[in-house]
Formats: sequence, structure tokens, C-alpha cells
Amino acid sequence: MRTSNQQFIDGEWVNSTSQETIEVINPATESVMGTIAKGTQEDVNKAVEAAKKAYIDFRQTPTKERQDMLNRIVEEYKKRKTDIIEAITEELGSPRELSETTHYMKGLIHFSEARDALDDFAFKEKRGDSLIVKEGIGVTGLVTPWNFPTNQTSVKLAAAFAAGSPVILKPSVETPFAAIILAEVIQASGVPKGVFNLVNGRGSVIGDALSSHPDVRMMSFTGSESAGSKIMRNSSQDFKRVSLELGGKSPYIILDDVDVDKAAKSATKFVYDNSGQVCDAATRTLIPESIKDEFIEKAKQNMESVRVGNPNEKNMDIGPLVSRQQFNAVQGYIKKGIDEGATLITGGLGKPEGLERGYYVKPTIFSDVDNDMTIAKEEIFGPVMSIITYSTLDEAIDIANDTNFGLCGYVMGENRENVQKVANALEAGSIVINENAGTPDLPFGGYKHSGIGREWGDYGIEEFLEVKALKGYYAW
Ligand code: NAP
Ligand code: MG
Repeated sequence: MRTSNQQFIDGEWVNSTSQETIEVINPATESVMGTIAKGTQEDVNKAVEAAKKAYIDFRQTPTKERQDMLNRIVEEYKKRKTDIIEAITEELGSPRELSETTHYMKGLIHFSEARDALDDFAFKEKRGDSLIVKEGIGVTGLVTPWNFPTNQTSVKLAAAFAAGSPVILKPSVETPFAAIILAEVIQASGVPKGVFNLVNGRGSVIGDALSSHPDVRMMSFTGSESAGSKIMRNSSQDFKRVSLELGGKSPYIILDDVDVDKAAKSATKFVYDNSGQVCDAATRTLIPESIKDEFIEKAKQNMESVRVGNPNEKNMDIGPLVSRQQFNAVQGYIKKGIDEGATLITGGLGKPEGLERGYYVKPTIFSDVDNDMTIAKEEIFGPVMSIITYSTLDEAIDIANDTNFGLCGYVMGENRENVQKVANALEAGSIVINENAGTPDLPFGGYKHSGIGREWGDYGIEEFLEVKALKGYYAW
């Protein structure tokens, strides 16, 4: 049992003003794995006060000091590698190998990227006799989801620290332990008092308290559209800046000149990875009529070879979904797919054989999906592929863009002109071309309902900065 019932406020671990706790469930066993504090508005008020006190000094620290601080975080983070992997495997249910290669690594990458981005980040610009400076925007509330417990927390923390903005972090109640370890990492790194605060608790309570607090200048949120919209509404009352990373329903456009084997493998992987709990999962698979039968056959083989099971066993591809609620939601979508007339190719309702305990689902493929069906319109957040066929490239582009979301787009093909035509036409913040993952300094974020703003690297740092023009600074 993990018992971490304290909050980290103003440089120390303190009790919440509530005596209550929240139970955290291990999704592979469905049993309680630990408890955390059920934070209150008073906890938030204390954390904001501490952050506000820290702000002016932190904003004015020399860049080199913040860079050294990020470097110390990188070193302390590495020391906690095993603990981070253990915690994520247990609380999220991700296979141990994935907990290491993806979840642990993402945190490390974000802190290192922010540190390195400071090498040549232009906080100051002389223009004529005047000076333009960019400085930390101020106290920022960070609210994060459970699907990548270290990625989403670290990407925000690293950028805020690089910018010189103090924060209050509220991680998801489903996966709080990775964030608690991160708090210990930050504490061990000698981050100034009040610059980092952790307040655990329910999103509705802590998120509201943060986004309604008059001394909070910015909210950086990753999660669902409904919670994002609530945060934005609260923030509008006193014009806080908002940065939102929301959901997706990303299209994968397979062109007619692909190696079908390779395309099917790639398309299924981008659906089932992390049990499909990925905001930029490529869940709408657009294939040309000409390769339909061959593609479906190969995708089916691939999906049926996905190893689902105990995250602690070796060589598992995916573990369970994070919670019973998530399990029920995904079952609901699979049922909708069947009811609305899509063709079930593999998977379907119920748990995989032999996995009665734990929130496991069957990797699932639907074909003959119409872009107006629920499974093509709404984010499922489970390993469910919706195959849609197209006859011309223009039709494929129209279908791909016919969505409320715009987080990511994927294209695979040989003909350079066609590939680039698709990449240019898609309305999305990132385009993955022929599986190229790019580099971690590229901006990440969404068009349309997928969000506002960009994270990662120098673009991420910009989010946490305010701009000041000092007119005539050098004129006398
Ligand atoms: P969620 O329910 O919106 O939760 C995200 C965070 O918001 C949690 O910490 C949650 O607290 C909190 N929250 C819930 N209600 C709130 C409210 N009324 N006000 C303020 N905060 C509130 O989302 P989720 O189910 O955890 O995550 C899945 C969603 O996140 C998907 O839609 C996915 O696409 C999106 N996502 C987007 C990205 C991206 O970068 N674009 C990345 C990952 C996930 P609790 O701890 O109490 O739940
Ligand atoms: Mg859980």
C-alpha cells in the first residue's frame, strides 16, 4: 500500500485541511493500491499564496540559475527511475517495458529539452532605443490527466520553470503516485520554496479553486473537452491565460502505393499503444478502396497478435484500461459501433479470455465505418480502430478534416507529391509522415477542439511568458 496523504506546499509536506483521503485503484487487480489527500480550496489558497510570494524572485533569477535547476531535476529524476517505472506500472497498468521506454523517458526528455532550450532562448530583444523582455507570467495552475502520468506533468513543469513561473500542480486522482515521486525529485533538486506546489484532490474542487483564484495568472490544462471548457469559463472571469491540450480523433491516411504489410502494422500500433489511451492515437484509419480487403486482413492479423495482460509480465503489448469508468466507456463505444452498423472485424464486447479480473478490453477493429458514426466522431480512448474507405485523395482529405478535433494527422505513402499534399491539407497541430516521430523540440498541440496553445521545447516555454516593452530603455 502506498500512503501519501500530504500536500507539498511552500517547500514542505503538509497535511491537507481535510482529514479525508482518496483511494487509488490498481487497474490490473481492481484492488486499492494506496491513498492520497483529498485536497480542499484552503489547500489551494495556501499553495497560491506560497507561489505568489516566490514569483518576483523566481521571475528575475538569471537564466543560468534556472538552467542549473532544471539540470539538477534531470539528475534527481534519473535516480528515481525504478520508483517511477514501478508507480506507473501499478497505477496506470502499463506494461513495465512501456513504463520505462515511454513513460519514464518522456519525463526525462521534457526536463532535458527545457534545460537545453535555455541555451539560446531569447528572453530579451533590443529594438531601436527600446527593450523587449519576456518574463514568467506568474502563478500558474497545472491540471493533468492519467494517460501519460510523467509526460504531461513534466512537459508543463519544465516549461514553467524555464520561463520563471511558479506552479501549483494537480495531477489526476487515477495516477497520482508518479506525480508524488516527481514532487520528491523537485524537492531534492533544491527548487526555491513556493516555486513548486502539489495539491492532490478532485478535479472539480481543486481545478475550480485554481481557475477561480484571483492570484492565478494562467491555467495550463490537459484532459477532456468538458473539463477544459469549465477551466476556460472560470478563467474568463478575470482573464487568465489558458493553455489547453484536449482530445483527438486523428486520421491515418494510407495512400494507394504503400507496402500494405507495413501500413497495417503501423496503423494498428498507433491505435492500440498504451491501450489506446493516447490523445493523438490514429483511430480513424482511411484506406483506398483498391487495397481494402488486403489491408483489413493484415490489420486483423496484427490486432489479434497484440498481447494483452498483466503489466508485470514480460513481453506484454498492452495492459488494462486505467479504470472501471474507462472500461465502461470503451464498452459503450464498441456497442455503439455494432448498433450503428459498422462491421466488427475482430475484438468486440467483453474481456479477453482468461482476463476476468482487471479492466482489460479486446483490441478491436471495425470496418465499413461511416465518418458520421459515433465511433468515428468521438474519442474512444481505448484500442478501437475505425476503418473508413475512400476513392480519391481529395475525398480522403475531406473525410480527415471533417471532425471537431485537430490534434494530429498521419499519412503513409511513396509518392512525395501526394504525401505532401495530404500533410499540407490536414487541419491538425502535428502531422506524422511515414512514421517519422520528429524530435522532442517540435511544438505539440491542437487545432479546433483539440486545444489552445503549444507545448514541448521552446514553444512550450513561450506559453508561460508575458511580454513587456520597455520604451526608451536605452534612450537616455
Ligand atoms: P479529465 O477528466 O478532463 O481529467 C483531466 C484532469 O482534469 C484531471 O486531473 C481531473 O481531475 C481534472 N478535472 C476533472 N474535472 C475537472 C473540472 N471540472 N475542472 C477542472 N479540472 C477537472 O480527462 P481524463 O479523462 O483524465 O483524460 C482523458 C482526456 O484527456 C482525453 O480526452 C484525452 O484526449 C485528453 N488528453 C489530451 C492530451 C493532449 O495533449 N492533447 C493528452 C492526454 C490526454 P480528477 O483527477 O478528479 O479526474
Ligand atoms: Mg486507478
